[in-house]
Amino acid sequence: MNPNMKEALDIRKTAMDHNKFFEESIPLVASENLMSPLAMEMLLTDFGFRYAEGLPHHRYYQGNFFVDIMEEKVTELAKMVFKAPQADPRPVSGTNANQAVTFALTKTGDRIAAPNLSGGGHISAAKFGTLGFRGLDILNYPFEENTMSIDVDASIKMLKQEKPKVCLVGQSVFLFPAPLKELKDTFQEIGAKVWYDAAHVLGLIAGGRFQDPLREGADVITGSTHKTLPGPQHGIVLGNTDDDTWKKVQRGVFPGVLSNHHLNTMAALGITLAETLDFGSDYAGKIIDNAKSLAEELHSLGFKVLGEERGFTQSHTLVADVRQNGGGKLVSELLEHCHIVLNKNLLPWDDNKKSQDPSGIRIGTQEVTRIGFDKSDMKELASLIFRAVVKQEPAEKIILGVKELKKNHKKVMYCYGDMEAYKYIELYK
Ligand SMILES: *Cc1c(COP(=O)(O)O)cnc(C)c1O
Repeated sequence: MNPNMKEALDIRKTAMDHNKFFEESIPLVASENLMSPLAMEMLLTDFGFRYAEGLPHHRYYQGNFFVDIMEEKVTELAKMVFKAPQADPRPVSGTNANQAVTFALTKTGDRIAAPNLSGGGHISAAKFGTLGFRGLDILNYPFEENTMSIDVDASIKMLKQEKPKVCLVGQSVFLFPAPLKELKDTFQEIGAKVWYDAAHVLGLIAGGRFQDPLREGADVITGSTHKTLPGPQHGIVLGNTDDDTWKKVQRGVFPGVLSNHHLNTMAALGITLAETLDFGSDYAGKIIDNAKSLAEELHSLGFKVLGEERGFTQSHTLVADVRQNGGGKLVSELLEHCHIVLNKNLLPWDDNKKSQDPSGIRIGTQEVTRIGFDKSDMKELASLIFRAVVKQEPAEKIILGVKELKKNHKKVMYCYGDMEAYKYIELYK
């Protein structure tokens, strides 16, 4: 065989092996999800090979009529789902959306308030991430371990004293709604723009099951569209702000941080948003129920699940302190060998240096919920985690349990079913 062709086929085989591994595993990484068949089809369309710089009807290339129709529809769907006066679905990831908003709202040297990493903040909000590269003076909100949330009183004091120009809220460990209402008067008093990073909880907000940041005082929302919103790897910005600020945001997106946006993923996002209008509320509700069930089960088996005084979680995520079991690195690797996939995570008392071996693990229920896991499956899953981590049963035994649990959950739910949608596609031709 031509050696280069062998390389190519090896890559293809690796992708197939990867598929098989995930088919036979329980996916619990809180930032991942599965797309519907109808949305997935969009990834293979010609949209994926074209350029459409700018906004609909103001392009720099020919051949964009269908792109314009699609992009306008996706923008309208986004406005509808989030009841947002403004929406820009062009950013190609959540971080890309964060970059655009950073460019729009700040200049080098400005002061910004943001969550810190051990309080669940995302790397894009860190001094070695987007905010730091913009040269911003970053203040972190004081964080409370007991409530797993921003310490409101201490934050009010800090904000009044330091007067940041922008206040960013929203984390990657996002257990409870951010205290926007509690901080609203302070934000107003210091004249700060309020930026809500909904990367993790976008699907919960879409389903009306978490909080409603645009009604609680946020000027702009950024998000990833592939975490609790079960769409393509892509990003979005939503706004409820003045025209001038919104214009800056849109210029931040293009030409600020991208030239061409990814049209195939944007089309897939549109389909996901339409499906969200029909199924998003049920889906988000079930995700949260499952997260609570799993947290309670793990807690009853002796795991130190955080946020106990507030019922562990009000989102898709839970975190546990696993120092007594060997720490986050060891536990997450052990579970991976047993085909239970999650990630190690910093907890509030870890400093950033501990990121390679933090105290905790993070679990998200959005993907297993998407394939139909319910309360009884959460009990079974907690038991598998207990047997693997605490009882140290051999991996082969746990893998059998994983396969058994996965057996009846192969189909993506909360979307237009293959049969139903494809029946109409035949008519549509
Ligand atoms: C995941 C995440 C992002 C962006 O992630 P992308 O991978 O770039 O989509 C931004 N902010 C927070 C809080 C996140 O958790």
